[in-house]
Parts: sequence; C-alpha cells; structure tokens
Amino acid sequence: IKAIAQKLNNRTPRKIQTIKKQTRLSGLEALNLELANEKNKPFYMVGERTNVTGSPLFSKLIKANNFDEALKVARQQVENGANIIDINFDEGLLDSKACMVHFLNLVASEPDIAKVPIMIDSSKWEVIEAGLKCLQGKGIVNSISLKEGEEQFLQHAELCKRYGAAVVVMAFDELGQAVSTEEKVRICVRAYNLLVEKLNFDPTDIIFDCNILTVATGIEEHDRYALNFIEAIKEIKIKCPGALTSGGVSNLSFSFRGNNIVREAMHSVFLYHAIQAGLDMGIVNAGMLAVYDEINPELKNKCEAVILNTHSEATEELIQLAESLKGQNTEKATLVEEWRNFSLEERMNYSLVKGIDSYIEIDTEEARIKYQRPLNVIEGPLMEAMKVVGELFGQGKMFLPQVVKSARVMKKAVAYLQPYMEEEKRNNPMGVSNQGTFVIATVKGDVHDIGKNIVAVVLGCNGYKVVDLGVMVHVKDIIHAINEHQAQFVGLSGLITPSLDEMIANVQEFNRLGINIPVLIGGATTSKAHTAIKIADHYSSPVVHVNDASLVVEVLTLLSTPEKREKYFNDLKVSYSKLKERHIKALGQHSELLSFEEARHDKFHSEEKFDIPKIPESGVFQHQVSVKELATFIDWSPFFWTWELKGTYPKIFNHPDYGDEAKKLFHDAELMLNKIIKENLLQPKAVYGIWHAVSENEDVHLYQPNSTQAFATLHFLRQQKAKELEGSAQYCLADFVASDLKSNDSIGAFVVTIGDQVERLAKEYEVKGDDYSSIMVKAIGDRLAEAYAEYLHKHVRTLWGYGANENLSIEDLIQEKYRGIRPAPGYPACPDHTEKETLWKILDVEKNLQATLTESFAMNPPSTVSGYFFHHPKSKYFNVGQIARDQIENYAQRKHMSVEKIEKWLNPNLSYK
Ligand code: SAH
Repeated sequence: IKAIAQKLNNRTPRKIQTIKKQTRLSGLEALNLELANEKNKPFYMVGERTNVTGSPLFSKLIKANNFDEALKVARQQVENGANIIDINFDEGLLDSKACMVHFLNLVASEPDIAKVPIMIDSSKWEVIEAGLKCLQGKGIVNSISLKEGEEQFLQHAELCKRYGAAVVVMAFDELGQAVSTEEKVRICVRAYNLLVEKLNFDPTDIIFDCNILTVATGIEEHDRYALNFIEAIKEIKIKCPGALTSGGVSNLSFSFRGNNIVREAMHSVFLYHAIQAGLDMGIVNAGMLAVYDEINPELKNKCEAVILNTHSEATEELIQLAESLKGQNTEKATLVEEWRNFSLEERMNYSLVKGIDSYIEIDTEEARIKYQRPLNVIEGPLMEAMKVVGELFGQGKMFLPQVVKSARVMKKAVAYLQPYMEEEKRNNPMGVSNQGTFVIATVKGDVHDIGKNIVAVVLGCNGYKVVDLGVMVHVKDIIHAINEHQAQFVGLSGLITPSLDEMIANVQEFNRLGINIPVLIGGATTSKAHTAIKIADHYSSPVVHVNDASLVVEVLTLLSTPEKREKYFNDLKVSYSKLKERHIKALGQHSELLSFEEARHDKFHSEEKFDIPKIPESGVFQHQVSVKELATFIDWSPFFWTWELKGTYPKIFNHPDYGDEAKKLFHDAELMLNKIIKENLLQPKAVYGIWHAVSENEDVHLYQPNSTQAFATLHFLRQQKAKELEGSAQYCLADFVASDLKSNDSIGAFVVTIGDQVERLAKEYEVKGDDYSSIMVKAIGDRLAEAYAEYLHKHVRTLWGYGANENLSIEDLIQEKYRGIRPAPGYPACPDHTEKETLWKILDVEKNLQATLTESFAMNPPSTVSGYFFHHPKSKYFNVGQIARDQIENYAQRKHMSVEKIEKWLNPNLSYK
C-alpha cells in the first residue's frame, strides 16, 4: 500500500461524475428517461397488453395456465417498441399474487423481455410487494394513492423506496378520484409535497397519473375529461419539478370499442396534445398507435374536436363518422384483439376460416373442457368451421391457398387433441370420417403429386377420411388399401402420358377383382375425353375425370347421394358416349392424315440461308448454380396456376377476387425461398452436352469431333395431319438440323435437377401437419427446375455464340424471345417418353445428377427438367399430333422396338386405336 501510495502521489484523483437529475429505471438494461424541454419531447411507451383486465387474450392465456404463450404477449410488446411493460393480474378468479410471482420469474429468464423495466400493476399492496421481490433492476410500482389516507400512502411509498422502485401516484384521495383539472392538480401537489418533505423521496422517482377518463360517452360532463387531463399535466409539470406524468390511454376511447380505426386515431390525437403539454409516458398498446400525420384528415379533425371539446356537437359528429368507418379495419394486430372477444365457437370458426394458427391450441383446450370429449370438439366446432370453409370454397369465395391454410389450422387442433383421444386414428390426420373413405395415389411409374396432395387436403377439409398412398403406387397396393380401409372412392393421379395407360390397366384390374367403387381420375395429361374413350369402358362403375380440386367435393356428393347417384351416372354415360362418337367419327376421317411418305415430302426446309453457329467445345459438361441466382429467372405465373389461381404474374395481384390472396401466397413463397437460400437447403445441378449432328429424315445422329461414326441417334416423329394452308410444312424436329456432315451443324441436350432435397423438405412439413408449406416447397422446386432450364439455355446460347449479344430481360426470356428452342421429350413436339433413355445414356445422368427414370420414364426427383437445344432460327414448338400406322412401323424399325411396344408408349398419338 505504501508503495502504491508513493507511485500515485502526484496524481489527481478522478473527478466524481455529477449525475444528471433524471428518472433512471432499468431492466437488464438501463433506461434513463430524457427530460422534456421546449424542443425535445420524448415520450415513453408502457406496454399495456400484459394485463388480464385490459387484454382478453392475455387473460385467457393465464386462465388456461398457458404462461409460455403469455410470455409471447410480453415479448410482442417489447418488439413493438414498448420501453416499459405493465403487468397486471387483478382478476377475481385468479390468485393474483401467485401469478405475478410466477410470471415475473419467467420474464427474468427472457432477456429480450427482461431488458426493459417492469411496471408492477395491482390495486393490492401484497401483490405489488410480492412482485417487487422478483424484480431485478429498478422498476415502477403502479400504483399508490391517498385513497386510504396519508399514513398508508407514506408507508407504501417508503417501502417502494426501500425496494428501489419508482412509483406511479394516482390522482385519488380520501374523497375519491380527481376529475376536474383543479382536483387533479391539487391531489398531485399534495402527494408530491408529502413524499418529498416527509420521506425525502426523489422527485424523479414520482410519476403522476391523473386519470385519463372516457370521452364521447354522450354524457355532457364527460366532454371535458380529455381536456382536463391535458390542462392538469401542464400545471403538475410546473408545480412538481422533477416528477413525471403518465396515464392509461386506452380508457379514453372506451366508447368506441370494436372500432379500432377510430380508437387508434383518438389515441394519437390525444397523445399529440398531451405530450405537448408535458406528458412523459403513457400506458398504451405498443404497436397500435396511428401515426398522427397519417390519420385521415377528416377523422383527425373530428377526434381533435372531441378531445379538445371545441363544440357541443363534436361527439355526435365523431360517432357518425365512426359508423361509416366500421368494417374498414385492416388485418392489423389490433383487429385480432377484437375477434378474440367472440364466443369460443366463433373464435374457432374465425381461426379456421382465416387460416390463423396462433390461437387454435388455446381455443381447442377450452373446447376440450367445454365439450368434455376431444372427439366432440372435432365433430363439433372444428368440423362446423371446416364445413364453412368447404362451402365458401365451393362458392368461389375462398381460394385454394386459403383452404390449405385452413387445413393446417385444423390439423394443429387435431394434433393437440390427439393425446387425449383414447383410440388414435392413425390413417386419418384430419381425425374424422363421416363422409366416407377415399384412397388416393399417383400411379406406378409417376412421381408427381402436387395436384394429388391438394385434392387430399381439400377432401380432408370436407370430412372425408383420406388414405394417401403416395407416388409410384402399384395397382396391387391400391387394391389392398381399398379393401383394408373399405374405401368408398378411389382417386388415380398422374402427370405424364404413360400414366394414362397405367390408369387403364388399374381400372381393368379393379374390375377383374370385382371392385365397384367410383374411380376419380386427375392429373395434367388426363382429360374428360381420354377418360370417356379409353378408361371408362373398362370399368362397370363410374369413372369421373376431375381435374380441379374445387370440383371434387361436388362430384363426391353426387356420387354418394343415392337418389342423385343413378342420374349422375346415367348423365355421365350419355356425355361419354357422345365424346366417343365424336372420336370414332374423327378416326373415320382418315383422309385428314397424309401418308408418311407424303408427310416426309412436305418436310420443313429452311428457305433463308443462315449462319450455322460454330460448335463450341463439344462434349458433356456439368453445371451448378445457386438458388439465389435462379430465383430471378423464375416464371411465377405457373406457380399461381398450381394453386388454382388463374392469371399471369404480376397482373394477378390486381385480380378483383383473389388479388389479395395471390399477394399473400407470393409473400409466403418469397419467405420460403429466402429460407431456402439462407439455409442453403437446395443444390441445383445440371448436365448438358453439345455435339456435332446430322439429320437423316426423322433421326438426328450425333458425332464425336473428327469422327464419321455416329455414337448415338435421337429419334423424332413427323406430323401427318394435313395442313390446311397450302405450302406449310409437316414438321419434325430433325428438320431443324442440317442433313450433311459438311455443314458442321450441332445440337445440344440437357437435364437439370433441384435434387431430392425438395421432397425431403416437403416431407418434413407434411409430417408436421403443414400441408401448406409442403405443397409450397414442391411448387417452388418445380419453378426452380424450370428457371434452371431457362438459365442453362441462356448459358448455352452464349457458349454457342449466337445468343451472346441477345440482351434480353427476364420477361423476354420467359416469353422465349430468343433464337432457338429446348423441346422436352414427352411434350407435343417429341411425345415419345422413351427417348429420355438416350438422354440419360449420353449425358450419364444417373452418375452426374443422381436423377433416374421410372418404368414410365418419369424423371425422379420430380423437380427435374430435360430437353434438347436447337439453335435453328426457324425452330419452333409444334404438336406432332395424330400419327398413322405407317409411321409407327417405320419408327419401330428405327428404334429397334416392336410395333406393340411403340404403340403402347405412343398410345395418345395413334390415329387408329
Ligand atoms: N417459363 C416456363 C417454361 C416451361 S414451359 C415455366 O417456367 O414453366 C415451356 C417449356 O416446355 C419449353 O421450354 C419446352 O421445354 C417445353 N415445351 C413446350 N411446348 C413444347 C412442345 N410443343 N414440344 C416440346 N416441348 C415443349
């Protein structure tokens, strides 16, 4: 010590800081309140929602003992900007003291709540004192007053001081509540003097609340209430130096309960004037304050008139305006509170119809108690609500994305009840089956299931028990499920044309085994005509084509109502036989088709000369790109079609009926996409090849550099349907490639995939009961695959040189304004799916991309796209359409396959079967 003292001998001690006189509060963090002056009028918000008397939601949560959710209310207040939070458990049925202690202890371990100071709010001293013992930092006691006389007032104040808390002093005394300006001022000044003189209380630890009372009640004496408060504030600030002022704001507008637009406006106008007068803080619903300057001017004027009591008609005028504003409430957090006051059944209905899942568990719990058995809840309020959803969807008043979101809420409620149910209903995620059982599957060889999943959700919403067998389902397994679950309906789904054949085989097998339940057919390539002509004849019960999820319920209702079923089935038969007649007639008009020889003769010739681009490096190349990069190449319109919202992006946002829904859907898609990008969930990969190519009639031979021996051949088909226009060509894709090696022409091919991670991610959501996100992920996977094809096409055009300077916007790309095409095998210009086998071989797709082909040549994973690159300036997409047996025979020879096999794969194109 001596040594240290010597060393420090000639140093001056640090200056002790003078601490500014100001109110200093703290939670985990300090809150030093800036004092107001002429220029700077800071205002501190005290969050009011954690109050069982003011917030029905908070009250409900506490009564349901759901403290975890209740904490969220506190967090929300802080997130919405509350500087302090007020906590109140004063309710007859609650053990307020225990609740206060429990809740404050929970808050203490939540740093993002506990960072702000806490205002312990109770009219019972013992609750306040219990709360004070749980507080860290420096909080506020709300409140003490002279109501019970000076002695008790000073005793409580002394304790507050010892616990280290600031106090709110209410303008109450032995005679009651202060209403007039003079009374407010008088009581506050009296309290101030007592505190400062008798207890040496720090004035900056005193906060006066001189009662914000309700205006616009229609009672004349109330008209001055707001003005009294504002006037009193001004005086108190002068007469009680250092002290702060506060008030509970919501009370002001109590007579406009249910009209949040008016309430918000009133609060803002009131605060604007009160702050001018010197109000330092207010207990408010943080996040529910209109911005003063943004309030509709007429509304602002009328509110101002009421608050400042400028004339006797002010209240009447505001009420009139308020009437006209009713129902304009937007979906702000504010509205939530309002519907939370509805009856239990109405709230559950609201949650389901609006697709809001935040409260469904609390409400379900309440219902479980009220309805005694969990099953009664499902069959009662939940099914009632789903019925409404089904009806609104049927009437076109709700749209698919909303229905899927409703289903998510339903599943959440059912999942909540699940543990309470004696017997689990495993295969029935929706929990009920009063409408019948529906087995649904994507047929063997096909992997696409977005449409199928949507139908399953819609059926679930409408009370059907859905047994979803997934994708690539063998007919044996479908039959097994029908028998096991004693299904009333079966649905077959498929995307690619070979699935059409598989569906025929399925119903034949059903028929053979005596199954006679109605069959529903759906999927992109299915059609009513195909169902009528090719499928229905093989089955003795109804086979109905339903390609739109919004129609499926109506069809099932008709099929399951005994009186209607007969007539419906007969009508169906009549319309099917008409379709068949038409088809047979068309077949009879063979003259329409040219012979294969004639068609060949009219092949497409490129009249103008053009520069065949020099082939870049030939061979097979791997490619990768980030989802982020692909996102800008997405063509969003088909995304909306997936959700059965017709229109084009971005015009769809202005659609009079579902523009808003489209916006929400798009917003959700963006969130999902951002999550995928941020968490790096998907790894798109591609492989492409460019080779020397020579066409020979309908074939295109591929060559390695400097070789005259083709290493592979692509087989195409030619249109045979006679063109009405004289001189127009009978197209075949091979026509777009030069027919001699000397021309040095070239062709490309590619496969892109977003990978199997898409399905896995979707599955994760599905098992959580979140079909909405599951379908969303798949739809986005789909979009990314197409975007990748677009991206890669551009890349290849640049490599090839002919597209290097094209300078096209994304819109131009989506409209395919570039030179060349990328026809996809299985599509109209090249309808033979088996050609994918060649692509897989020459690009070694299994090894390069881990993508495979199913027995029907569907590409797996589903978010996979393949195609050829043609650079010919005149190349275009066309439809091969009907072809005759002469071409089939020729094609079979070229492909070294039997005519029967070819006929099977090209069944939809045959003119003669
Ligand atoms: N922007 C769209 C692109 C895909 S649809 C999207 O994001 O969904 C267009 C693609 O379908 C073409 O690039 C081609 O690969 C395929 N296609 C369309 N019509 C075709 C036809 N008649 N023959 C072969 N392929 C066709």
